[in-house]
Amino acid sequence: MSLQQTLILLKPDAVQRRLCGKILGRLEDRGLKIVALKMLKVTKELAAQHYAEHVKKPFYPQLEEFITSGPVVSLIVEGPGAVQVVRDMMGKTNCRESAPGTIRGDYGLSRQVNLIHGSDSPESAQKEIAIYFRPEEILSYDSTLAEWVCAGD
Ligand code: UDP
Repeated sequence: MSLQQTLILLKPDAVQRRLCGKILGRLEDRGLKIVALKMLKVTKELAAQHYAEHVKKPFYPQLEEFITSGPVVSLIVEGPGAVQVVRDMMGKTNCRESAPGTIRGDYGLSRQVNLIHGSDSPESAQKEIAIYFRPEEILSYDSTLAEWVCAGD
């Protein structure tokens, strides 16, 4: 499986509820490598760029209010098949329908206030990485764990 990078946001509820450490821990425990990380406040302009496909939907005004309401943690993780691996770890959009063991299934009860964003395809990942990070903010480094975590197929 080829190495992929994917964009993750720990949304304002994850920051407010002090769940960032737990969620980052899950990603690290899985073997994903953090190659960029920062905290920021999403502006209305950034929200519209990120959620371009949703801007015209009825839930967008509420989504905009939520995602711009406080700081988020934005990061890029890297690993084999990282895009789908992270999507599976997140659970379904609606926390109430997410299986226990997933991030949304373990920590949330809302469809909107659902803790985490992860890119839904390699193409979205490239687009979203470019929205949130400048190339010089993305680090390239070897991890001594890689041969144990990512070895084989
Ligand atoms: N969302 C919402 N109402 C909906 C669907 C989605 O408020 O009916 C919000 C929710 O925060 C979700 C985000 O919009 O995470 C983006 O929606 P998408 O369908 O892309 O879900 P995701 O990929 O985050 O699971």
